[in-house]
Amino acid sequence: MPAIEFVCLKCGNCCRNLIGNEGTAGLILFQNEVALFPKRNVKPCAATGKSLTHGSFKLITYQLTENICPHLVDNSCIIYQERPLSCKGYPFVLSGDSRQPSLLTDPECTFIKESMGKYLSRSIRDFAHCESIEARTVFLENLRDYYILESRKIKRWTYNLKTEKWERYLYERNF
Ligand code: SF4
Ligand code: SF4
Repeated sequence: MPAIEFVCLKCGNCCRNLIGNEGTAGLILFQNEVALFPKRNVKPCAATGKSLTHGSFKLITYQLTENICPHLVDNSCIIYQERPLSCKGYPFVLSGDSRQPSLLTDPECTFIKESMGKYLSRSIRDFAHCESIEARTVFLENLRDYYILESRKIKRWTYNLKTEKWERYLYERNF
């Protein structure tokens, strides 16, 4: 079967629905991406450490608090070249057991939706190599220690946007 070519339809929908997990989580940002957004729109996201007050507490990622990205103008990204890895990697997302994540397509992407039945929830192995796959792979590598390697010594924490509180990371989520 020939490899599927992903074609972004430039609908901007993925930049308008950034808050997921029932309002608890926003677009993930790495430290070097925080300055792309106004300070008031950024909160911490993931951390490791014995406790919230222990010296070992270390921030790993941040998150955008907005459902609609402030950089979306007329359905276009005005920081396209510098956009975060989370954006570059879309519509490919991490899914499944955090010890063995797979890269799948997000069914909420308009291109994927319009191709339902053909491409829905396909593995990236079915797709021709593209910048988005490359970016999502780098994203996965950046988070490997936090999300993938099981560690009994290091506790993992996630910041809940809805409650504005840190919680132990005890559940699976898609990125
Ligand atoms: S939802 Fe899919 S098709 Fe639309 S802009 Fe985002 S990546 Fe492109
Ligand atoms: S930074 Fe650009 S690509 Fe990313 S969500 Fe905002 S508008 Fe969309």
